[in-house]
Amino acid sequence: MRGKRPKEHMADEDRRKERICSIPECRGRYTLMYSIGCEERHIMEAENVCFGCAFWKNVIKGDRNSKRAVVVNGRHYWIGNEKSSGFKGFGGAKWKIRFNDGREVETTNLWHQGTIPEHFREDLPDNATFLTP
Ligand SMILES: [Zn+2]
Repeated sequence: MRGKRPKEHMADEDRRKERICSIPECRGRYTLMYSIGCEERHIMEAENVCFGCAFWKNVIKGDRNSKRAVVVNGRHYWIGNEKSSGFKGFGGAKWKIRFNDGREVETTNLWHQGTIPEHFREDLPDNATFLTP
């Protein structure tokens, strides 16, 4: 289910208004001032959560049915396109990953999204280990 679309016409005063994240473990303060049109913004408005919580909620949604999501020791990674000709994650360093389901993947385009906050760990459990480095 998608959140409601951002109100781009929202009055400045309304966007500047300080809000408090509805997730009890977070309760972070935020405004809607600097997030316009991104997926996180839709989630922020629909669920009254801060950008950080919206970011992780978006990650949880993106991970469903994806074989590219990697979680090791509570840290979230994403396997990018191997044929990417632009920037590569970790400067193109080679990583070997063993997923808990037995898959082994080698990539030179691994991206790190950060440490998963405690209150989202249940939704993003560890699913792999690194074989290298
Ligand atoms: Zn929050």
